[in-house]
Amino acid sequence: MTEQMSCPTCEAARDVEPVESDETVILKGRPVNFRARAWRCTTCKTEFETPAQLDGNLEAAREAYARTYEAISAEQLVVLRAFYGASQKAFGFILGFGELTMNSYEQGATPAPAHRLLLKLAENPVHFRAMYEINHSRIGALQRRRIESSQGYRSTTAWQEIEALR
Ligand SMILES: [Zn+2]
Repeated sequence: MTEQMSCPTCEAARDVEPVESDETVILKGRPVNFRARAWRCTTCKTEFETPAQLDGNLEAAREAYARTYEAISAEQLVVLRAFYGASQKAFGFILGFGELTMNSYEQGATPAPAHRLLLKLAENPVHFRAMYEINHSRIGALQRRRIESSQGYRSTTAWQEIEALR
C-alpha cells in the first residue's frame, strides 16, 4: 500500500509506505514501550511522521504509560470490591459498567481508559459513595444491604460524622 506524499528530505511528492516500529520513550521519568507509526519515502528511505501520526504516537505512548504504571491489577480489584462488600455485577453497576465488565477485569483484561479512571476514583470511599448514590437503584436490596454494611462504605459514614462535628 503506497501513497503519494511530500517527502521532507526529497522536498518533492514521492511514493511513501506505512511503517511501524517498537519505540521506547521516557514519559514522566519512566521508560515506556509503544508501537509508533510513520511513513517511509520509497525513494530516499527517510521515515517521517505526519502531525496526525505524531498525535497518535503520543497518545499510544500515554496509553502504554497508563497501562504499565497506573493500571490497577486484577488482585487489587478483588480487594477493592471486597472492601465495599459488592458482587462483581453490583460493583460494576455502581461504577456504570456493564454486567460482565468487572468479571473480565478480574480475569485479567485491561480496563478501558475511562474505566481505569473510575476504578481509581472508587479507591476513595467518598467517591465510591457518590457513585453509589447515583447508581444504587440498579442493584438489588440484598446487595445494597451488604454494601451499606461494608467496611468501605461505613468508613465514609464515619468520615461524614467527623465532618459534621467540625
Ligand atoms: Zn524522500
